[in-house]
Amino acid sequence: MPAELRLIPCLADNYAVLLRDPVTEATAVVDVPEVAPVLAALEREDWTLTHILVTHHHTDHIAGVEALKERFGATVIGPKAEQDTIPGLDFAVVDGDPVAVGGLVGRVLETPGHTKGHIVFLFEGERLLFSGDTLFVMGCGRPFECAPPVLWESLARLRTLPDDISVYCGHEYTLANARFARSVDPDNAAVAARLEEIEALRAAGQPTLPTTIGAEKATNPFMRADDPELAARIGLAGAEPGAVFTELRALKNNFRG
Ligand SMILES: [Zn+2]
Repeated sequence: MPAELRLIPCLADNYAVLLRDPVTEATAVVDVPEVAPVLAALEREDWTLTHILVTHHHTDHIAGVEALKERFGATVIGPKAEQDTIPGLDFAVVDGDPVAVGGLVGRVLETPGHTKGHIVFLFEGERLLFSGDTLFVMGCGRPFECAPPVLWESLARLRTLPDDISVYCGHEYTLANARFARSVDPDNAAVAARLEEIEALRAAGQPTLPTTIGAEKATNPFMRADDPELAARIGLAGAEPGAVFTELRALKNNFRG
């Protein structure tokens, strides 16, 4: 039986996601920006939380971890590199470690950049990736704790995953990301078409998640820092991908689209 998923809007623009194995009834939440909406979703479905998966230590991803752990006795799994800043961690994991939610077995990929210890959770059998603040729909996190090229390497790694992997990320930043993508990639028909779709979804109050690795490869400028045409478009013809990525990040930070 396929995994069950519930996307839960939290705070202003965060998402938590429930991942449930219908066979064993094991249920995980990926990141906990706040308790109430996650609890409400669990109660609505009559699901019992068994696991809490944490992508990184930022408050808007861990604020509700301890309260949910206490309430359900759930097992908390998060990055070993950030174990000192994530309260309640039961299992500190590193790259390649398996993560089981009942019969759903995923693994950890380390994707440093946004934070030094950021991890993502790949459930290859379910064709699912939980990307936290590393990869957003048509964008990426800000490299707060690492040099931008470190984040580029992490995104380049995610780009090697199969195109049909669905991606759930930590924020609804898609509309601003899509407008930025169009500004640096105005001749890309896939970007233009996707911007229209996203405008319609947001106008209807709908989330833009999930995306797919394939869609990101086609429309996310931060996944294409080694594309010579994109480099030329931002005045960096022939530059290293790390330098192109750094400039894209700087342009995005200053973008007021
Ligand atoms: Zn963050």
